[in-house]
Amino acid sequence: MSGAGAGTLRIAVVGGGPAGSFFALFALKYARLAGREVAITIYEGKDFRQFGQPGCNMCAGIIPASVLARFDELDLKLRPELILSRVNTYSLHTSAGTLHASQPDPAAHIISVYRGAGPRYGHPPDLVSFDQMVIEEAVARGARLRRSLVQEIRRGESGGTSPQRTSATPIEVTSGGESEPYDLVVLATGVNGHLPALRGFGYRPPPTSPMCQTELYLGSDEVQRRLGASVHIFLPPDEVATYGILIPKGPFVAVSLLHARSQMRSLRQFLAQDEVTAVLGTQVRQVCGCLPRISVGLARSFVDDGLVAVGDASATRLYKNGIGSALATAERAAWTAMHRGCTRRDFLASYVPLCHTIDSDNWIGRLLFLEVPVLKRVGAMPRAHHRLATGNGRQREVSELHTRILWGMFTGAYSYRDLLRMATSPNLVLQLALAVGGSILQKDTS
Ligand SMILES: Cc1cc2nc3c(=O)[nH]c(=O)nc-3n(C[C@H](O)[C@H](O)[C@H](O)COP(=O)(O)OP(=O)(O)OC[C@H]3O[C@@H](n4cnc5c(N)ncnc54)[C@H](O)[C@@H]3O)c2cc1C
Repeated sequence: MSGAGAGTLRIAVVGGGPAGSFFALFALKYARLAGREVAITIYEGKDFRQFGQPGCNMCAGIIPASVLARFDELDLKLRPELILSRVNTYSLHTSAGTLHASQPDPAAHIISVYRGAGPRYGHPPDLVSFDQMVIEEAVARGARLRRSLVQEIRRGESGGTSPQRTSATPIEVTSGGESEPYDLVVLATGVNGHLPALRGFGYRPPPTSPMCQTELYLGSDEVQRRLGASVHIFLPPDEVATYGILIPKGPFVAVSLLHARSQMRSLRQFLAQDEVTAVLGTQVRQVCGCLPRISVGLARSFVDDGLVAVGDASATRLYKNGIGSALATAERAAWTAMHRGCTRRDFLASYVPLCHTIDSDNWIGRLLFLEVPVLKRVGAMPRAHHRLATGNGRQREVSELHTRILWGMFTGAYSYRDLLRMATSPNLVLQLALAVGGSILQKDTS
């Protein structure tokens, strides 16, 4: 970090995915507003301009409007070429037919993007990477980018820092055989990277679950004809996966499987399911694939003197909107570092509560997701949901609430706490009970 003045806060951001780049952007903004000097280095092992897994942070690439709206805070303009598809409906395929949840208000749209430069094979030349756009913006505004993996983060010997610096001891970050001292290290390594050896810190990454992610090439017209502007969700048998999702992405369709039991074999089984071939057809060409993990819990000891973890490396919403959580945690951590300080106490006071809010909301999410096995196994349940969804007259209000809940569950537009509140509204519970009873009776008499 040669060139950083005595009063300059030296920050190493380890990982240049969304969380790391958003942190750099917010920290630069808050430093400018507070008249503080910062020198930010982002360490990133990948080059997002590469095709396939080497340039990609392995994700379905759905971003809801609520997250895009927050880009204004950073003066970030989404380049139109980045947007591959616009989604206005989620279609849940059940044993009783397909439930459609349409965008409940005009501002709730969703887009799909590629995190890297595009699939490994058959990529169009003009695809733009979302992660590359955000990191380029951070560099354009003053962050330094080091394209290399960090091997070690070590708490240094005490002393040697100026009084303006918030951390009492500098922290050594080692990458490519070189070490540099920093006042603050931001761990934004996600859950699929290479966690550096952490000496003198008790950080433990969050628990994760296995996913299977692949890209299919169909061509834009065929994607439009088969999927429309809809994300399609399927409930395959448990021995294949918990659920599977098809996402339109321009000429491609992204497929995400949660808890894929036998990795790529589960994918083949999923693509061969009748309900899936009814949407996709049988002539699909696989152009990319990976087996990432998804964060499903809270990291431990993720703040310390001079260290804070953000994004997946700390806390993220369960199965939803990870890019939104990356943005929210990065903003809060940057605000704390710039306006309060970089000690464990500072982060405990004004950053950790946000992560605990995300975590406690996820517990409610786990409760709501208990309906997935019920939907798979109890035929009366999907039939009851169909009745509610198509309710008219006096039941119209319940039907609208039902659509809003489905939209929120699929997109992450509302917190799980809000969804639970909506789902336990007395009128909805009553109508659902009546619909379940009606479905059971109808089955018995038919
Ligand atoms: C299959 C799947 C589908 C998903 N779909 C969606 C979706 O549609 N929408 C959504 O919002 N979220 C989705 N998510 C979640 C989303 O991908 C994550 O929440 C999001 O990427 C978190 O951002 P991050 O910056 O914390 O981590 P990451 O995006 O994982 O970025 C971490 C970065 O750190 C770098 N790194 C790691 N270790 C080192 C090191 N030692 N030195 C230097 N660099 C390092 C990595 O190369 C990487 O670039 C999905 C996740 C999975 C697994």
